[in-house]
Amino acid sequence: MQLTNQKYPLTWHKKNFSIKIFCSIPNIATGILIKTDTSHFVVDPGDGILRDLNKEIGTNKILSISDLFITHGHHDHVGGVWALLTYMRVMHKQTPLSIHFPSGCIEIESIYHAFHKVYSKSIPYEINLKVIKDSKIFKSKKVIIKPFPVIHKEYLHDGITTREVPALGYKFSFEGIKICYGGDTAFCMELVKNAKNSDLAIIEAGHDEDTPDEMHMTVNEARTIGESAKEYFLVHVPE
Ligand SMILES: [Zn+2]
Repeated sequence: MQLTNQKYPLTWHKKNFSIKIFCSIPNIATGILIKTDTSHFVVDPGDGILRDLNKEIGTNKILSISDLFITHGHHDHVGGVWALLTYMRVMHKQTPLSIHFPSGCIEIESIYHAFHKVYSKSIPYEINLKVIKDSKIFKSKKVIIKPFPVIHKEYLHDGITTREVPALGYKFSFEGIKICYGGDTAFCMELVKNAKNSDLAIIEAGHDEDTPDEMHMTVNEARTIGESAKEYFLVHVPE
């Protein structure tokens, strides 16, 4: 069933598992918070994430964030990473932070290295870069995470030629409740498989006349996948 509460922020919860999508607008920003009763994760911290998290959970809980999950390196998905890392430093975060990202995502590697170079002697918390090379399941704070490859592209300088970018979707399971987020992707079987029977699927529908077919999905393609989950949001719809 499509959840048609399409005004941001989008919220959803089941028992102690909840998600808030502050924003998901192509070329502008994405920003997602996932919560259990004891943990906070951020997925695709685009521009504005620090402002939105401050309003939503406040400083102390921002400092307790244990994991960032990155689907791919486009600016609308990683634009807030520098702000978050820096805020956590200034506010004296003490607990470790893991950043999960697809292998070859040079944007995250570069942001991390720049952050480390600038502040190496004054970072109060440990940062663990977790490069994802396969679909191996892992666990953090009692949440089971399954990354899966998706198909996403970007334009080269000529504005016509495209190339594939390292891109993932994630399936998060907590106490049997499953949330599947595909990130940015063309129609792909991995997403079809992982969205199926999820309690919530978050599916992008970013295709418009100007984007090639292999970059984003049309609303109809996204709905086909969404309908296989119990409930779904369509996101990343051009405005
Ligand atoms: Zn993208």
